[in-house]
Amino acid sequence: MTEISKKGVLLEVKNDIQTSILQFFQDAIEKKIFDAVMLPMKVPSGDSFAWIMIKDADILKNAQPLAPIMPVNAAKALKKYTRKGKGKYKIAALIKPCEIRATVELTKLNQVHLDDITLFSYDCVGALPMQDYISDPKAGDEKFNKLLTDKNWRSKDVKPICKICDKFSLSASDLHFALNDQELILISNSEKGEKTLIDLEMKAETDLSKWQNYIEEIKKFKTKNKEETFEVIKDMVGGFDNLTETFANCIGCHNCSSSCPICYCRQCYFDSSVSKPNSDVIMMRAEDRGAVSFPLDRIMFHTGRMAHMSLSCVSCGLCSDACPVNIPVAKIFSYVASQTQKTFEYSAGASVGDALPMKEYRLDELGELGELVKSAEVQEGDHE
Ligand code: SF4
Ligand code: SF4
Repeated sequence: MTEISKKGVLLEVKNDIQTSILQFFQDAIEKKIFDAVMLPMKVPSGDSFAWIMIKDADILKNAQPLAPIMPVNAAKALKKYTRKGKGKYKIAALIKPCEIRATVELTKLNQVHLDDITLFSYDCVGALPMQDYISDPKAGDEKFNKLLTDKNWRSKDVKPICKICDKFSLSASDLHFALNDQELILISNSEKGEKTLIDLEMKAETDLSKWQNYIEEIKKFKTKNKEETFEVIKDMVGGFDNLTETFANCIGCHNCSSSCPICYCRQCYFDSSVSKPNSDVIMMRAEDRGAVSFPLDRIMFHTGRMAHMSLSCVSCGLCSDACPVNIPVAKIFSYVASQTQKTFEYSAGASVGDALPMKEYRLDELGELGELVKSAEVQEGDHE
């Protein structure tokens, strides 16, 4: 991985940050550095946003690069776009740090192909909860614009998961827009990013230490919030009884998995007919336990999902946004993910170069058997 450069390109902010970012992409399209840019744009009804692949620099003016909500994780859009591998167009995608992490995870799972894509990220102040925004988009826009103008990283209005997100800044993108007081700095973070700056004839001359200190301060605050929240969540998921209570209101709609960028299986076991027992089996279970509750297998669904994808959960919060009964699914999965990722010394989405633990077999994970294999290998080496 290329080391982050110590200097960035100071971009001019004429009106506001959103307009300056749009201007950057308009220039890049006009100079033919990119053929298209993927950005969020408001849907015609005005109450949500969609990912748009924009080729025409004029249409770009209508996009809203820093959107107040995240209805779909951008990794899913990039998955659809790159489904058949490399194309012939050079694409820039401006997405949130959690979406960068999801994209990186899906790249490792061969679901996204980044050959033609240059990933741009930005310092994210958080997103508003979907339900709040949909109920009053005008108030949502005003609230979010104020958050951006004030650079308010401690807002109570953002999604619960955003309040505890300490990975809101530079991630595994190629280029990053750093928001520092009233400044906007573009930082290259990979060889692809360096090349883009050269193609754009931009020189990185602005020192980043002030911005780095600024981000570190906010990170400390968010990490503290996260630790306090995880202490509460820990009790909610410790043991079968607590899990049952936590998911007692779950209606089994599976919205949480269908909105999750990491739940990418085309055929989910829990949606298949194999997972649906017939009435005789249900009665057998009722006989064993005295009674069964519907919907069936709620805990198995959630623990199955945790076992399947918590190593790659990027804490984007889409599952919570999608839950109709307000179960704090994202905080729960984020907590479980923090534990599994710690166990495997892995950080989801941190770098394309870090092997996925489930694809990598380490001998020290095998305990005594691993020790035996190691000593057998040493002996074999001695005989050679
Ligand atoms: S489990 Fe929830 S928070 Fe984690 S990646 Fe999936 S949608 Fe995002
Ligand atoms: S979205 Fe909520 S109600 Fe639906 S399955 Fe997930 S936790 Fe249960």
